[in-house]
Amino acid sequence: MRRAAFLDRDGVINRKPPEGEYITRWEEMQILPGVSEAIALLNHAGFLVIVVTNQRCVAKGLITTAELEILHGGLCEALAAAGASIDAIYYCPHEMRPPCRCRKPQPGMLLDAARTHNIDLAASWMIGDSDIDIEAGRSAGCKTARLLDSDERANGNSDVTAPSLREAIDQILRESSRDGSRAQ
Ligand SMILES: [Mg+2]
Ligand SMILES: [Zn+2]
Repeated sequence: MRRAAFLDRDGVINRKPPEGEYITRWEEMQILPGVSEAIALLNHAGFLVIVVTNQRCVAKGLITTAELEILHGGLCEALAAAGASIDAIYYCPHEMRPPCRCRKPQPGMLLDAARTHNIDLAASWMIGDSDIDIEAGRSAGCKTARLLDSDERANGNSDVTAPSLREAIDQILRESSRDGSRAQ
């Protein structure tokens, strides 16, 4: 079994769009500083890197699944050009209602990925910038890391808090090397 780092997309990998807006064009996809380095560190540490993202812009008719997949292809290519590899991207295209099993805070995308990629969820991490990411990660049995804006305070729900993906990954890799040395 492999361990995975499940990454939320908006606000973790790329700049979060304003509330109520969605990224529907490549021009709007701005990869955040330090992200490719952070993902490359996960790659080298043997983590699968899997993106799990709610995209109800599909249900709203703002983008088709084909267009979203092209956008995601572009994201993977841009990161790969910077030495960072994404193993899979899962998205929930549904509206909030009726409830589905994949929209975070439901853990469906993590559970599906775990089945497909033979992932040890208890040795894996969910990293996100919102409480629903943390809830999804905990429901799946993963450890969790919450990215905080400068004006946000940690609410104690996550195992790790950090201001950026890069700093979260540094903490996670320190913790997992400690776990690894305990296991030996
Ligand atoms: Mg987010
Ligand atoms: Zn869904």
